[in-house]
Amino acid sequence: MTDDNIIRPDFDTLHLQVRRQPDTLYCRHGQVLLDDVARKVYCASCNAELDPFTVLLRIARDEMKLQYERREIAKLQHKLTALKNDERNTKARLQRARRRLKEVESDG
Ligand SMILES: [Zn+2]
Repeated sequence: MTDDNIIRPDFDTLHLQVRRQPDTLYCRHGQVLLDDVARKVYCASCNAELDPFTVLLRIARDEMKLQYERREIAKLQHKLTALKNDERNTKARLQRARRRLKEVESDG
């Protein structure tokens, strides 16, 4: 196979333009603008029209993640409360032991 049949563009005279299609499925920006008259969803940063279902899915996933994190925080707060109680009880036992030690030392 030879390259003889291939027509090569003359890049010195050719003017290429690429028109980017609006990003309707995904936008990296995080802020959403709702047009309640047109019932459309746009990116508040770059004004790209967004797919409403994709936006709803992202919000739902964020909410699920938030609910998981709230449960984890509640578990950690419960553990922290238990640790603080253990610490308070340990300090009280230590104080009692020191007092008894002083009593024993003063008696001896
Ligand atoms: Zn955007």
